[in-house]
Amino acid sequence: MANSESLRLYRRAVKKIPGGVNSPVRAWRSVGGTPVFITRGKGAYVFDADKKKYIDLVGSWGPLILGHAHHRVLHGVGASAAKGTTFGAPTESEIKLAESVCNLMPSIEKLRLVSSGTEAAMSAIRLARAYTGRSKIIKFDGCYHGHSDSLLVRAGSGVATLGLPDSPGVPLSVARDTLTAKFNDIHSVERLFRRYRKKIAAIIVEPICGNMGVIPPVQGFLDALRQITQQYKTLLIFDEVITGFRVALGGAQALYRVQPDMTCLGKILGGGFPLAAFGGARHIMDRLAPDGPVYQAGTLSGNPVAVAAGYATLKLLERGDTYDLLESKGRIMEIGFSKVLRKYRIQGTVNRVGSMLTLFFGVSAVADAAAARKCDQARFARFFHGMRQRGVYLPAAPFEAMFISLAHSTAQLRQIIAAFDAWAATERSVEPASKSC
Ligand code: PMP
Repeated sequence: MANSESLRLYRRAVKKIPGGVNSPVRAWRSVGGTPVFITRGKGAYVFDADKKKYIDLVGSWGPLILGHAHHRVLHGVGASAAKGTTFGAPTESEIKLAESVCNLMPSIEKLRLVSSGTEAAMSAIRLARAYTGRSKIIKFDGCYHGHSDSLLVRAGSGVATLGLPDSPGVPLSVARDTLTAKFNDIHSVERLFRRYRKKIAAIIVEPICGNMGVIPPVQGFLDALRQITQQYKTLLIFDEVITGFRVALGGAQALYRVQPDMTCLGKILGGGFPLAAFGGARHIMDRLAPDGPVYQAGTLSGNPVAVAAGYATLKLLERGDTYDLLESKGRIMEIGFSKVLRKYRIQGTVNRVGSMLTLFFGVSAVADAAAARKCDQARFARFFHGMRQRGVYLPAAPFEAMFISLAHSTAQLRQIIAAFDAWAATERSVEPASKSC
């Protein structure tokens, strides 16, 4: 059997770990089958327990913009770890990272390092509520901001895949303060403001949605959010956990020239280690303990090894024509995928911003969560397995982004497109999927 060692590991894993995984989407439930277990990664490749090599388009769900095991990152990590792995005391490396981030994202005057995107978004919301003295927040259907109670309402990513609008265990009393609007529809936001007026502490948004698949903001949408939040003295929080350092050094806020009050960062910031941050205007951030009364803390926050990985990553990204390169790699993929769709008359569309993209089957345009949910999930599952058999490792769910790294060569990208072409040829013999998601 092809995945015999992975299967053996999976059977062992499920005995001790719920679903055999430490994060649900890794279990391949929406595409079927059992997950491959990864043994190592190098550059654009990952290798599984059965020694099969794949071109990786998951990139650990976003952090690995340099590819796997980049020597400069490993060097930074090794040098830091050799001096001790954690102190629970301040280190100079944290300052250097904070200075770099503030420099790259001028809307961030101060930031606090945490260990996950979930923590960053949760803490930003607490601070926004404390700062404004209001309790309600607005999030967008399909945007995911981690799994804290307030934010697990109409979330995307794994939650969307599992079809859970929210999760048991989230008290109604908490969820009631989370209002949801439609991404790319400013009228849905205006309606909430008309109804709740000055009860709304913050709007939190992925400026480019990555958790309903990639959905870029329509022109003027982010500006309109900026305007309405200013009008009602509500804070605007950009969750740039995915987009920060991914679409531009200054994130989506630089790309679209909209300055939020607060920003959440993660993924690339940690260079493959558990590191995230939330930051913003000084007068807001100064409300955090110990300067202010808003409590927030973490034993491993600003961990020196994670900081070293993140710092090495940012320094490499700052060099040269990183984002032009990523754009051209992304364009190759978009054009290649679109051509194959046309060649085989497969209905679908490619949404892309720079090096993050999603291929939606069965729909011709996707600008919000409702449109994304209409995609053909059955076809996506066949696509996923077809690509895996042809040596391409994709996110195991239709509502995710594929991430291209600087390590992906043009030849490797062409290989991915050739694999897609070969798979698409087999789809001719398959009846159109009868059930859409
Ligand atoms: N915000 C966004 C936009 C994310 O994509 C994610 C995770 N995919 C999170 C927050 C949560 O981050 P973490 O998984 O590190 O808790």
